[in-house]
Amino acid sequence: MSTQFPCRDCGKSVEWRISKAGKKYLAEPWLWYGGAYSEHVKTIPAGHRCTPNPTWKAEAAARAGAALAADIAAGNIVKQAPVIVYKGRKVPVGTTGIITWIGEDNYGAARVGIRTDSGDVVYTAQANVKVNLINEEAN
Ligand SMILES: [Zn+2]
Repeated sequence: MSTQFPCRDCGKSVEWRISKAGKKYLAEPWLWYGGAYSEHVKTIPAGHRCTPNPTWKAEAAARAGAALAADIAAGNIVKQAPVIVYKGRKVPVGTTGIITWIGEDNYGAARVGIRTDSGDVVYTAQANVKVNLINEEAN
């Protein structure tokens, strides 16, 4: 069973399904062809027919933006947070950019990818960066 989640464009509850042809598609969980006779009739969840809802999109974006702003204000290293490198050797101290990746190195230590102001992506230990609140205020 897959997990239902709100469609990004309209807010309707949807889930990922795999078609008979093996293709992944967005389905509306409550729309089943076959219904009570599903043992005898092929049950295929209907594909999601999206009617984009600009209000939903705006509200979802506002919620995501507010959550991100709260994380940044709290100094949390999250994707899209503006950061500054303040220690370490490989990436110059003072490098600023936006977090684009968060993961681990082969030893399980937290690492981040930063898209710098010049557009390059550099990787360093998460311990080497902190949220760059000054940069955030300037934006
Ligand atoms: Zn939709």
